[in-house]
Amino acid sequence: MTTKIQELIAQMTLEEKAGLCSGRDFWNTKGIERLGIPALMVTDGPHGLRKQKESADHLGLHNSVPATCFPSAAGMASSWNRELIGKVGEALGAECQAENVAVLLGPGTNIKRSPLNGRNFEYFSEDPYLSSEMGGNHIKGVQSQGVGTSLKHFAANNQEHRRMSTDAVIDERTLREIYLASFEGAVKNSQPWSVMCSYNRVNGEYASESEYLLTRILRDEWGFEGFVVSDWGAVNERVKALQAGLELEMPSSGGIGDAKIVAAVNSGELSEETLNLAVERLLTFIFKTVENRKENASFNMEDHHRLAREVARESMVLLRNEDHILPLAKEGTIAIIGEFAKKPRYQGGGSSHVNPTKLDDAFTEMKAIAGADAELLYAQGYELDRDDINAALLQEAREAAAKADTAVLFLGLPDSYESEGYDRSHLSLPESHKALIAAVSEVQSNIVVVLSNGSPVEMPWIHQTKGILEGYLGGQAFGGAIADLLFGVVSPSGKLAETFPAKLSDNPSFLNFPGEGDKVEYKEGIFVGYRYYDKKEMEPLFPFGFGLSYTQFQYGDLRVSSSRIKDTETLQVSVTVQNTGNRPGKEIVQLYVSDIESSVIRPLQELKGFQKVELQPGEQKEVTFELNKHSFAYYNVSIADWHVESGTFQISVGSSSRDIRLSGSVEIESTTPIAVRYHRNTTVGDLLENPLTAEIAKKYSSVFGFEEAMEDNPEMFLAMMKYMPLRAMIAFGQGKYTEEDLAADLRELNALVAEG
Ligand code: BGC
Repeated sequence: MTTKIQELIAQMTLEEKAGLCSGRDFWNTKGIERLGIPALMVTDGPHGLRKQKESADHLGLHNSVPATCFPSAAGMASSWNRELIGKVGEALGAECQAENVAVLLGPGTNIKRSPLNGRNFEYFSEDPYLSSEMGGNHIKGVQSQGVGTSLKHFAANNQEHRRMSTDAVIDERTLREIYLASFEGAVKNSQPWSVMCSYNRVNGEYASESEYLLTRILRDEWGFEGFVVSDWGAVNERVKALQAGLELEMPSSGGIGDAKIVAAVNSGELSEETLNLAVERLLTFIFKTVENRKENASFNMEDHHRLAREVARESMVLLRNEDHILPLAKEGTIAIIGEFAKKPRYQGGGSSHVNPTKLDDAFTEMKAIAGADAELLYAQGYELDRDDINAALLQEAREAAAKADTAVLFLGLPDSYESEGYDRSHLSLPESHKALIAAVSEVQSNIVVVLSNGSPVEMPWIHQTKGILEGYLGGQAFGGAIADLLFGVVSPSGKLAETFPAKLSDNPSFLNFPGEGDKVEYKEGIFVGYRYYDKKEMEPLFPFGFGLSYTQFQYGDLRVSSSRIKDTETLQVSVTVQNTGNRPGKEIVQLYVSDIESSVIRPLQELKGFQKVELQPGEQKEVTFELNKHSFAYYNVSIADWHVESGTFQISVGSSSRDIRLSGSVEIESTTPIAVRYHRNTTVGDLLENPLTAEIAKKYSSVFGFEEAMEDNPEMFLAMMKYMPLRAMIAFGQGKYTEEDLAADLRELNALVAEG
């Protein structure tokens, strides 16, 4: 293959090479007929195929071919089910083959920094590990079908506000540990065929022009082998972008970008080798697609719809279930209230907008499951296209609720509330939805709320309800999945992949979102999501990892394979989980790691493992995890690498980040201790902390004139000396300690630490 590609490159004119580096139109790459290079289609993504026929746009305005609409990433992540997301990927890949699409643009692994981000519905989590695991399995699934993915939007595209011009200012450690880590795992484990660079700037540089991001980190450090494509219109300076490592500009720039490349090669500004390398990467992709092409491929719409229902069921999170109001009995009278019950909101707005093959509505699906012994009433409750309260509809809802044993309210965020292109400004439901809860609660105390939304909402009304089922944007089978869960055909098994704050201002990014002008500073640093709420000891509305079930699980027998390991070794952790209730169910077992003592500021705990396990009533299974260096490390900026400090780490296993059931510990020995070098401004305290140098440091009490005081109260005087730089002994010592003494001591101290 490589020789063939090299031969082709040798035959290509400069113009043909430059031409290959941008699209022919909105969705296709250019072909070169005389050399047998075909044009290929790349299109959205991520949770359904959006293949447009005639009018093309990147905002989901025009229609596309029918395709299965799966739950969006916010929901899929709540399934915490790697295998299932892999199956969705396979189905998406099959649909791409059937439609002759080479690359499905997605998944998106940007971190949910703020619940206000208009595109949160398309992203997985606030946690980089969960996000990259979900993204990675999506990629594997699609690519198993011989179709490429485009992991997006690389990097730090965490808001829609001024997304094409804003500069995300992020310190290196935060960038690595949170925002890049969410891509890192997916790239390393799943090798996406392409990565899409984001619109925004990162630390002053457009992502599309960042050699640091696109080449040094992505390729050199992570080993990415595919090609980089621009987000649609993300190229600022074409030549700079190519030099940075951006191979494909999309959509077509009408030849403008290509002409710039040709001129730059002719003027010597751009080397032809750089262009050849880009062409080689693109041709590698093109021929890989040709090789993997399945002629006459097709897919079964019904099978995919069934899969969409299964995934939707696992994506929904039961947030509240007072008095076991759920599951509903299939008898008596149930009032179904809210227009969403008949006209579901099941996907988000923008480029991911899919034209579904079929659409379930909850009312019909509930009727089908409830059977003849239950009476289902319906009241519209509010108007979908208006926020204001319609008194007549409220009255109708009150009347229906008064006649029923239970009222199920379908509420959430209408389309206009969250979308690609802009952010939300608050976390509230529409006034008409809130008024509906208040009105129904006047006549009915058995209220269940089903939510359709892509990102958290505040719930000042929570105490008026007994049940809350977070449905997210559940895809085309949303209605069927809701019916299955409400009637207990299956037990809910989703858990939150993000924290629901009690109020917007609790969120760590609140003071700096969406920034000032074209600059947004990520001042909360690594304290994103639960990392912040935990450290601040704040009570969220619902914590990360939380979700109820109709059954119960008991944890036992935590085992850690070793009590002491080196950071190069792996550690096995196992627990047993038993279903102690009387219904089948699935539990998401979560593993968090805490560094007990650290010289750097670290979160209280970080998610480093999870397993979803299915259990029949009474059944017990062993769940195992493998931890490695990455599970214990933080990113050390001074050595520009991940680093584990020697010491004790706690391993906590539980049902949510705030429901830890068992814990154990392990001692880790670092194999790459950070080299210490003492200097004149090293503090006495730094020497006291190191057993190798502590004794010498204690002697300095005499230089400070503390010897006697040291006898009486050594701790106090050691504490007082602690922050003195060594050079201060020269001034405070009044001649007792000289520059020469300091130089000699530094030689001795540095020799001591070098010997270890
Ligand atoms: C979005 C991408 C999408 C592209 C093509 C852009 O506006 O940010 O996610 O893949 O359009 O539709």
